Amino acid sequence: MKFATELIHGLDPIDAQHGSVSHPIYLSSTFAQRSIDSFGRYDYARSGNPTREALEEAVAGLEKGAVGLAFASGIAATASTLLLFRPGDHLVVCEDVYGGTFRLLTTLFKGWGLEATFVDATDNDAIAAAIRPETRALYLETPSNPLIKITDLSAAVALAKEHAILTIVDNTFMTPYLQRPLELGCDIVVHSGTKFLNGHSDVICGFAVAKDAELGQRLRFIQNAFGAVLGPQDCWLVLRGLKTLKVRMEEHQASARKIVAWLGEQKEVRQVYYPGLPDHPGYEIHNRQASGPGGVLSFELASYDTTKRLLEGVKLAAFAVSLGGVESILSYPAKMSHAAMPPAEREARGIKDTLVRLSVGLEDPDDLIADMARFLNV
Ligand SMILES: *Cc1c(COP(=O)(O)O)cnc(C)c1O
Repeated sequence: MKFATELIHGLDPIDAQHGSVSHPIYLSSTFAQRSIDSFGRYDYARSGNPTREALEEAVAGLEKGAVGLAFASGIAATASTLLLFRPGDHLVVCEDVYGGTFRLLTTLFKGWGLEATFVDATDNDAIAAAIRPETRALYLETPSNPLIKITDLSAAVALAKEHAILTIVDNTFMTPYLQRPLELGCDIVVHSGTKFLNGHSDVICGFAVAKDAELGQRLRFIQNAFGAVLGPQDCWLVLRGLKTLKVRMEEHQASARKIVAWLGEQKEVRQVYYPGLPDHPGYEIHNRQASGPGGVLSFELASYDTTKRLLEGVKLAAFAVSLGGVESILSYPAKMSHAAMPPAEREARGIKDTLVRLSVGLEDPDDLIADMARFLNV
């Protein structure tokens, strides 16, 4: 089955009894057992719920993994995945990893004894240099946030295999429609399903998908033992959102390309970061490992005044945290995702106070351009 067909027909027939085409929402915390000797497929809903299972199988299928698991948030999926490791273990992590993952690693997991070294993952030699005897995994994100840097996943996997360690990839920005890290040899994909997978800015959720069944069973044990599961009503919303993943991603991306081309011609715009631009340093690598540049871009403006005017003035894009929704979202990394970082460190990483990130929604791109033009050309 091709991707679009799998989105609609990838799951087993849903409801043999009545033939409903939408998954029933099983609002049951427990399932009655018929025999004292053998229990049914479901017993307690933290361990398994039919609605959640349908969503988990759908996401595992799209990512081409053996086991998929749904969590209460993206960060819960990441935290649960990190519980695969032990105090004393070490990870190599891309330096522009999602801010919440950075916080999780440098506070809670650091206190627990899991060490992390942050490196520029666009440089495979830098990854190699950070690997120690106690390193257990690489944790990567490509494209990264907010500077849209590209990591060569195949090169990272080769390095990881050489050292017999895992490769974990946060695939939130691309979704399996555009990039499937497990097919490139990575071991685990994590997602903030809050973003493009659900796509409608109305659910907080996360996923972990394991390439092989054995690792998947270890994650399933953690999901049940740690307990950060996604509730059945939210699962149903994500099942609904997923059906339009292909058409949404195509549209987000087509509009992003148009907006990127327009931004490139504005004298108030100093630089545009987007993996679809041929002069992007990661352009070739990205094209090798993904089938499109996606719907998120960043750009740098000529002055703080213009930045402020744009962020506060634009009507059609929400000025907010988050991305991947049907509505466009403009974010300000310096005061949002990277607010906790000292200004000097932030500047050193290229996250200036004139940098803006745009998640392109499903509005007509001409309207978005006209809206932004009012604040860029004054
Ligand atoms: C939002 C986000 C997360 C965290 O997900 P939540 O659903 O907010 O917990 C993780 N990684 C990336 C890349 C994100 O954008």
